[in-house]
Amino acid sequence: MTRPPTAPTRYWLERPARFFPVDAVRADFPALAQTVHGRRLVWLDSAATAHKPRQVIDAVRDFYARHNSNVHRGAHTLAREATELLESARARIGAFVGAARAEEIVFVRGATEGINLVAQTCGRTRVGPGDEIVLTTLEHHANIVPWQMLCAERGARLRVVPLHDDGTVDLAAYLGLLGPRTRIVALAHTSNVLGTVLPVRAMADAAHAHGAVVVVDGAQAVPHLRVDVTALGADFYTFSGHKLCGPTGIGVLYGRTELLEELPPWQGGGSMIASVTFEHTRYAPPPQKFEAGTEHIAGAVGLGAAVDYLECIGLDAAHGHEKALVAYARRRLTDDVPGLRLLGPGDGVGVCTFVIGATDPARVADALDTAGIAVRAGHHCAQPVLRRYGLTAAVRASFAFYNTHDEVDLLVQALRTATRRL
Ligand code: PMP
Repeated sequence: MTRPPTAPTRYWLERPARFFPVDAVRADFPALAQTVHGRRLVWLDSAATAHKPRQVIDAVRDFYARHNSNVHRGAHTLAREATELLESARARIGAFVGAARAEEIVFVRGATEGINLVAQTCGRTRVGPGDEIVLTTLEHHANIVPWQMLCAERGARLRVVPLHDDGTVDLAAYLGLLGPRTRIVALAHTSNVLGTVLPVRAMADAAHAHGAVVVVDGAQAVPHLRVDVTALGADFYTFSGHKLCGPTGIGVLYGRTELLEELPPWQGGGSMIASVTFEHTRYAPPPQKFEAGTEHIAGAVGLGAAVDYLECIGLDAAHGHEKALVAYARRRLTDDVPGLRLLGPGDGVGVCTFVIGATDPARVADALDTAGIAVRAGHHCAQPVLRRYGLTAAVRASFAFYNTHDEVDLLVQALRTATRRL
């Protein structure tokens, strides 16, 4: 008689499907090699901002050292080099997120600016008195306030999709909120507090059936999922470079070509025009139409290098490692820290948000900092979703592919010590 196969242990299941050389990868990140309060830095705040590999730091330094120039309008060698570097970065970043054409990628300062750009252009042209903009309860303030400002200006109103207790979106309620007045649906691809991954494709299809434009805040998704904006059915998709191992101050707004072509510009100035007289200005085609003034060229070059770096280390293996790590962290936090309550489903996308009894989250974060562990505490720029769970603040430990199982163990150990003292 053959013996039944031995059930694999849970620990084994939480290991990545493909080997990921995390120690070699960590060696690329100078910031991870430092100490804080005499302890090795444990960076569990990547959802706020990710560290940069030396390949990105070198690309930015190399740009300033060798190619620094304005783009598109110089008739000299460095201007041509800088233009080539910027446009090549645009093409690689566009391919990274599945854009059909490089021209669908507009460089902005970050997700916040991307959403404001859409609100000020698409919103102002499409939304009028009595119209509706649909959001979900789990949005970051960056995907709430610009729409609120637009509603106040245009006499429109926000409709907010509720959440189930487990942190997933109430899809039946969402479908019920859509109607003939829905002009825009703005949703996070992934929650920065709950880690929920929203079913964007299904939600976009339903919105399109009502003629609405779909704006997706991908700030927390692009670092953790392979994103294909075209397959998702997004009309606009925005994210920040700094959460993707790129520089701060650079981000991307993807927009479908037809929409970018029909939208009015946002800011006026140099670089966004085809011709100017005092009577009339003809605008440049997208993406230049939305990139007035001198943009963050070095930032875009650095973000291009970040995308190359992620492809080079193996994005799928990196995501697999991260997923295993988050599953391990969620299990250990729940099992081994008395009184700890995790929020949301996590969905393997990097965030573990929690409270420990009635302990002030800020005191927990302070205690962890003393142990060299960086986490974030507070409202995480998402007050409505915390309120939904009866909270005003929580602790968030967030993971990236450069974190290790040992760091999870250090977190759990430090929390056990801290909770005995606090
Ligand atoms: N949306 C989400 C879901 C976020 O987590 C963040 C950053 N915390 C933002 C938008 C805003 O990003 P940025 O500050 O880089 O513009």
